Parts: sequence; C-alpha cells; structure tokens
Amino acid sequence: MDTDTGGQKDTFYVTTPIYYPNDVPHIGHAYTTVAADVLARWQRLKGRRVHFLTGVDEHGQKLFRTAEEQGVAPQAFVDGMLPRWTELLELLHVTNSDFIRTTEPRHQQAVRAFMQVLYDRGDLYTATYAGPYCVRCEAYYTVEELIDGELCPIHRRPVERLEQENWFFRLSKYAPDLLKLYDERPDFVAPAVRMNEVRSFVEGGLEDISASRSAFDWGVPLPWAPGHVFYVWFDALLNYITAIGYGADPGRFAHIWPADVQLVGKDIIRFHAVYWPAMLIAAGVEVPRQVYAHGFLLVGGEKMGKSNATGIRPAELVERFGVDCYRYYFLREISFGHDGTFSWESMEQRYTTDLANDLGNLANRVLTMVGSYRGGVVPEATGEPGDAEAALAADHATAVEGMRAFDRLEFKRGLEDLWTLVGGVNRYVEARKPWALHRAGADADLDRCLATCVDALRVIAVLVSPVMPDAAAALWDKLGLPEALAEQRYPAAAALGGTPAGTRVDRGALLFPRLEE
Ligand SMILES: [Zn+2]
Repeated sequence: MDTDTGGQKDTFYVTTPIYYPNDVPHIGHAYTTVAADVLARWQRLKGRRVHFLTGVDEHGQKLFRTAEEQGVAPQAFVDGMLPRWTELLELLHVTNSDFIRTTEPRHQQAVRAFMQVLYDRGDLYTATYAGPYCVRCEAYYTVEELIDGELCPIHRRPVERLEQENWFFRLSKYAPDLLKLYDERPDFVAPAVRMNEVRSFVEGGLEDISASRSAFDWGVPLPWAPGHVFYVWFDALLNYITAIGYGADPGRFAHIWPADVQLVGKDIIRFHAVYWPAMLIAAGVEVPRQVYAHGFLLVGGEKMGKSNATGIRPAELVERFGVDCYRYYFLREISFGHDGTFSWESMEQRYTTDLANDLGNLANRVLTMVGSYRGGVVPEATGEPGDAEAALAADHATAVEGMRAFDRLEFKRGLEDLWTLVGGVNRYVEARKPWALHRAGADADLDRCLATCVDALRVIAVLVSPVMPDAAAALWDKLGLPEALAEQRYPAAAALGGTPAGTRVDRGALLFPRLEE
C-alpha cells in the first residue's frame, strides 16, 4: 500500500475538507479552517515548509437542485457563491497556500486520470442499485441505519428511494488492507475514539460503494461511460491530490504528498478514513499520515448548522471581538476532537479575562513602566536573579514545552500552558513590585525586573503568533525588536534572554480594549 512516490517529501501538508457552497459559511466551517491555519502557522514557526489546502466542493446533486430551485445554471450558482467562501478566509486571516474548486479543469482532468487507474485495474464495475438515499449527504443508507426506518441519521429528514444504474467501486476487496493499515498505524485516525469507530465499521463488513450517478449531469463525466458523472464524494475526496499535481506534476506531488494531517468533522470520518484510503490503496497511491476528526460545535445544545437556526455568521463575532479573539476562543474553549459549546457569554468572558486582563493589561503595564522609569528604553538585565526569576523561568519552561501539544492538535492544552507564562509574568510583576523598586532607588533590581518582563513579552508574542497573528504582530511592534516576527523560529526564538538591551519600546494603543456594552 505504501507505494514509493519516488520523490522526497519536504513539505508539511495540511488540508481542510472542501466545503459545500450551497449556503454561506457558519462558525462550524470557520472552526475547521482556523484550526488548520493555526497548525500551518505553527509548523511554519517551527521552520517547516508548509502547504495548506482548502476549497469548495462544487458538484453533486444537492448543489444541482439548489441551483435549479433558484432558476440558475449550476456553474453560475457556484460562481455566485464563491466570494462568500473566499471572504471568510480573508476575514479570519487564513494563510492557505491554495484554494481548489472542483469545477476547475486541473481537478477534473486529474479525477479522470485517477478513476481511469481504478477502472483499468478492474476495481470499478456496473450494476443497478436501489436503496434509501439522502440527497443532503449524497449517500445511500441501509434501512437499519435510518431513524425510525425513514429519516437520515445525520439530517433527520426523510430519505428518498433511489434506483440507478451505477458504477461501483470494489470497496469490500480492500477491507483487509484497511484493517492492516489501522493495525500498523494506530494514529492514522485520531482521536482514538474515532479510530475505534472506523475499525468497528470495517470489521462489520464492507459493501461496495456506488461511484457514479446518472440521474443528473453536474459532475465529472466518466471517460468510458457517457451519461454518468462520478459520485460527488469520489470527486471531492480526490481534491487533496488533484490540487498538488497528481497525474499532472509528479515532482511537485512527491514533495507534498502524503498529507500530514487531514482535518475533518467527525460526521465525515467514514468517507475520509475508510473510502479515501481504500481508493488510494486501489490506485497505488500512499495514504495520508493522519485523518483527524474534530467534534461538533454546539449552540444551545444543538449541532451548528443552518437547519436549526444556530447559523451564526463568523463576521458577527469578528466585528464584536476581533479576529484574534475569534481564533483564540474556539481553540481555547473547546478540546479539539471533542464536541464543545459556543456561547456569546463564554466568548465575552475569554476576551475580558484571558486577553484584555491577563495579556493586554500586562503588556500595557510593563511598557508603561519602561516608559516612565527608563525613558522607553529596555535596560540591561543587572542585579541578582532570585526566587521570583526562578519561578518565572519555570513558567516559561512550561509554556515552551507545552506548545508542543500543537503537534498533536491539542490546542487547548498548549494554550493553557502558554497562559501559565502569561500568568507567570503577572505574578512576577506582583512579586517584584517594580514601582517599589523605583521608589527605593534599587536601580539594578529594577533594571533586571523590567528587562525580564519585556523579554517574557517577546516570548509570548512568538508563541501566540500562530493563534493570534495580529495581536502578536502588534505586541512585537510595541517591543521595537530589530528582527521581524515572521523570521522567528521555535524553539530558539522562545528562549529567555533574547531581547537586546537598548531596544526602544512604544506602549501605543491597548492590545485588547474593553468591549463596548
Ligand atoms: Zn443526510
């Protein structure tokens, strides 16, 4: 299954699912995208070359019907929806390397090339299939999987009975390969609860799956069967390789593939952890290193979505809290991989407590003191380090090591450890009382205290930059450091003592001003 690609992979590759643009984005879509961006920025901070792909899934019956209901051609419909999705990336300061639309020729050509391989290998065959079908999922279900025998288990809406002459993919044939994959690479699917779910599903026996549709023509046509288009899930899953040169640019493909992390919501884990690796194995392409399924965002106890009036627009939240708080809140509030609840109240609390008080006020306070006591110039760290400095150094070590939790996508954990340092600097200021040192004329101790605080703020700016890039850049500017923040690399830039004496700081505006009523 691990066919050698013949190249040298040198790029960290992270993907989001491609989103259905049949509606505008809500905070559930933004959740996945921001997590992918934080991971991408974190890897860049570590010095990795990164490729970060997101995009839109523009084919399928659901879109075809939505366009039909609105009386427009499907291409015109998806063209019209596109700005809503690209605007989201700008709004949230997402640094994706590429954006794929499945209607693009580069994608369609590579889908045909890939599916031709499966066809030539005898893994596609034709048969008639009839069964319960959810148009929203674009998937068949068995009667046992339906709620009360008639509702889609995901959408809780009535399914249709669909009978079609279809091309089928021999999924069942790959069950042993999949089980071997899960055994050999237990972290292929994460978190572990999802791996168990996927393994049970495969152990329960796999049936071949439909790979084409003929009831409508909105999709990638089958080269060998006029009147058929590929089932939208086959088409969509392939975006992860078509966008990086599969079938078109083998050299580029070898540098980027396999993906290091493919982020998905837990509701689409079966497609990504069963069908997707089976397709790749069948075509002789290496499987991704990890498929990571995050949990659902709940609002008032219900899954985020447009159907249950929980569709909060990310722009509303950014307007109120700013982009940095937006990015911080979801990763700090919810354990990635588990379900979590959004509320305005908890977001306000995070803003006020973690950001405005703990971090914003701290920076303001320290820089104000450097301004009043040392004319805005960072002093040389003189005086003797004592217990307070030792305590701060311990908090610093916790933060620097703790950030490695980001490698495992444990963002909440990493941020908790980083805030140990934020809290540590606050405790340090209270312990050393620089205002008292100033009054007492203890200049050497005051110099050390101020230099230590500024240095710790520099480390915080570096470490927080993947999550809150704007606030980190603003803090960096205030510190007046000679090198650009973008050139800093973890862990070297997170070591203590890296702030040169003589740097001129500028307090400027508050990092996180008080929220207006
Ligand atoms: Zn459904």
